[in-house]
Amino acid sequence: MLKLLIFFGLLFGVFYFFYYKVKTFFTNLLTPPQTREKTSEPQSINKGEMVKCHVCGTYFPSNTGIKKNGKLYCSSECMSKDNQ
Ligand SMILES: [Zn+2]
Repeated sequence: MLKLLIFFGLLFGVFYFFYYKVKTFFTNLLTPPQTREKTSEPQSINKGEMVKCHVCGTYFPSNTGIKKNGKLYCSSECMSKDNQ
């Protein structure tokens, strides 16, 4: 009798595991990519908007760059290079 209980316990565990896998698979499949991008959007805002340096072309967060004459530079070095 105890063996039977263990058997059904394992069966239920395996069944539930596959049910969870299938459920997550279908929710990923049914969720359009647009809505998934929307959920990841606040994270990119927290990181800061990525902007391209006018001189070296490096991408950096806009809050860490140096702004001069409406242009953003990754460092003071690039800022002085652009003035030449
Ligand atoms: Zn630069």
